[in-house]
Amino acid sequence: MSSPGAGRRRRPRVVVTAGPTREHVDPVRYLSNESSGRMGFAIARAAARAGCRVTLISGPVHQKTPPGVRRIDVVSAREMLAAVRAEFSEADALYMCAAVADWRPARRLSGKWRAKDAGSRRVSLELVRNPDILATVARRKGERLVVGFALETSSGVRRARAKMARKGADYIVLNDSSALNATRASVRILGRDGSRRELADLSKDRIARVLVGLCVER
Ligand code: C5P
Repeated sequence: MSSPGAGRRRRPRVVVTAGPTREHVDPVRYLSNESSGRMGFAIARAAARAGCRVTLISGPVHQKTPPGVRRIDVVSAREMLAAVRAEFSEADALYMCAAVADWRPARRLSGKWRAKDAGSRRVSLELVRNPDILATVARRKGERLVVGFALETSSGVRRARAKMARKGADYIVLNDSSALNATRASVRILGRDGSRRELADLSKDRIARVLVGLCVER
């Protein structure tokens, strides 16, 4: 006699990051980028539809949370790192789709930065490197799937493969800048095993389904 649920497949747990991060100079000013979050939200939606348990860690974006997805909102890269660390410890796969700011101001002022206080027509903003979230968590990923993304403005394949090796990802999804803030994209999915798959001018929902397949097929 089989027990109830015997033979039923465990639902994969998937963590997706999306959107930009914001790195504040003062309470009202920050460094950020143009990421809309669309690709990450599409991956979260596709993964939930494929039966995965999905946690979406998002920077500030104007996107609706897909049905069945648990969402954690963060602002800065360091907040995103803390959330990814906590969530990936229980997960089977990470899609690191967020456009994480590489740099943050060395100091965050507690009050508004006023131009007249500078006493000069020129000031410098000192920046420090943010932690690389993907590289940090991929170090101890074991058998779990880690997919990174790369936006390259020119001949990016060699650079993307180097990035995949450096950061320890299983796949890198290579976009060109036309993907930014758009509903469609052309991407190349480069695998650590040397594989290469091209998806030309597809909706981000279609691309998301292919990417979720990388996890569900495992
Ligand atoms: O080096 P580059 O920023 O092009 O790498 C892009 C990939 O690395 C993306 O998957 C992005 O989410 C991730 N990344 C990260 N932490 C950073 C910068 C990028 O996880 N500080």
